[in-house]
Amino acid sequence: MPEIKKNGKRSNLELKMTYLSDDSLNDSHWDIIKPKSLVIADAYLSGNVVQVRRGERSLCCSNMLLFGVGMNIDTGEIKQKLKSADFCRVRLEPICMHRKSLRWKARFHEAWPKIKEQYPTARYMHLVLTVRNCDIKDLRETIKQMNTAWNRLTNRKTFPSTGFIKSIEVTREMDYCDKCKGSIAKRGTCKNKNNHTYNQNSHAHIHVLLQVPASYFTINYITKDKWADIWQQSLRVDYKPVVWVSAVKPKKEQESLEDAVASAVKEVAKYCIKFDDVIEYLEKPGGLKWFLELDNQLEKTRAVSLGGSFKKFMSEEEPTFEEMLTPEDENEEVAKVLEYREYLFKNLEKKYALQKIIEVKNDEIAI
Ligand SMILES: [Zn+2]
Ligand SMILES: [Zn+2]
Repeated sequence: MPEIKKNGKRSNLELKMTYLSDDSLNDSHWDIIKPKSLVIADAYLSGNVVQVRRGERSLCCSNMLLFGVGMNIDTGEIKQKLKSADFCRVRLEPICMHRKSLRWKARFHEAWPKIKEQYPTARYMHLVLTVRNCDIKDLRETIKQMNTAWNRLTNRKTFPSTGFIKSIEVTREMDYCDKCKGSIAKRGTCKNKNNHTYNQNSHAHIHVLLQVPASYFTINYITKDKWADIWQQSLRVDYKPVVWVSAVKPKKEQESLEDAVASAVKEVAKYCIKFDDVIEYLEKPGGLKWFLELDNQLEKTRAVSLGGSFKKFMSEEEPTFEEMLTPEDENEEVAKVLEYREYLFKNLEKKYALQKIIEVKNDEIAI
């Protein structure tokens, strides 16, 4: 961050060629995500009338960011915090998807003391439930069937969970070469990769973070095979669906269980589609058609749902505009405001550049 003079002001000369990433390393992710957002906006602009409107909104998403720059009175540390942005709130637009997932994570942290108090010995696991691939045109119907099956699963007497957070992720299906057609394991390292081509099918799967009693991992353990069996029964299908299960544990020694579970909450809440994948789909034949149909099929479907202890202590509502702006509770910090900084996204440089500095009066506090 360029040095701020004693009186906290910078001259207008310094405005030239100052970028958000220079001023605040923590905010450099904006330069990465905005170009991705523009790719998605462009795809929307090729759609029907409703989608063109979504494209126009996405194009403008977070073009201007206003940060308050403050100095912590105790430590003297200088920090900037987002104070205003134009979020488009379009379902598949990357910036808004990211901001919403931050809010889900923060909601979990806020609920954690109560969850911990009521379920002090609970453990957590990540479950992925899949179904056979379907034509992208049948996605809405497939999701409906998956949700019905999920309700059957959770209503079983033997369902081990005391709470969950769930979402549905969709990926684009590929046609594989003869060598790895039948083997998921071989696909990653296949030498014939160039012959794999995307088609118009979709692969929908449920991602769920489950809270389970500690006894789940000792006396009541459900094997992966057993999960596949009960998921098959819940789906009422004649094939055995693929499932994945893994325990959620702190990844390193310093990480707390709370942080490990919070990361899992963020992962689950951000699913629906990985935007890096979408950008790849769009580069391949038929990608645009697939994406626009995906948007159409997902219309009015719920992104994230909660159950049990999670529903009891966390809001299930879509994060609001204000919550996206300030996903975390900011009570902890009171700082002396030095100035407000306005950054604009520059298409040429693919960076947010400092546009304007708005001075504040000396006695203004609390950003
Ligand atoms: Zn947006
Ligand atoms: Zn292959």
